[in-house]
Amino acid sequence: MRIVLLGPPGAGKGTQAVMLSEKLGFLHLSTGDILRENVKRGTDIGKKAKAFMEKGELVPDDIVIQMMLDTIKSSGKKNDFILDGFPRTVYQAKKIDAELKKLKLAVDIVFYFKTSISTVIKRLTGRRLCPKCGANYHIVNMPPKKQGICDKCGVELYQRKDDSEETIEKRLEVYENQTKELIDYYSAQGILKELSGDLDAKEVYKQLAAILA
Ligand SMILES: [Zn+2]
Repeated sequence: MRIVLLGPPGAGKGTQAVMLSEKLGFLHLSTGDILRENVKRGTDIGKKAKAFMEKGELVPDDIVIQMMLDTIKSSGKKNDFILDGFPRTVYQAKKIDAELKKLKLAVDIVFYFKTSISTVIKRLTGRRLCPKCGANYHIVNMPPKKQGICDKCGVELYQRKDDSEETIEKRLEVYENQTKELIDYYSAQGILKELSGDLDAKEVYKQLAAILA
């Protein structure tokens, strides 16, 4: 099963992707993790990406897509993966579809986590991240064992600059404009399922697992 998780920042996509990969053995593909991994390992494509990042520029779509595909191909799990927060645009979705088609694969199901602004604000303002492994925490919902410290690495957690209330509303607006077409694109294929991202993570997982079963 090839799954895409769509939803605004703070919708809980990452949490669900981790649960699905741990419980059902899916390969979890998150652009942030894959970029970090390629840069860290110094792969050819990681070096290309790094050059953009050092200039403070966004890594171009084609590089990101190539990294995702390389990861899928080398994982041995090309039949069971989750794209977490990617694609973000119809352009990216079409490219992914075309590349998967070459492997005789397709996206089977897209879960859209419809989430209210108040939920997103609550989640993002409490979010803390590990600079080393990228793990996500939340000061209320998912606190680390020791306050402000990553459970796995023991390093100090940080808050993303754009996880402040003022910038969140702007980010949501950008997200919604960007994904409107993407939702139509998948919905026209009859593979879009809408879930409430406002629910508790366990409840969302229960619904996801029921649909997948
Ligand atoms: Zn860590």
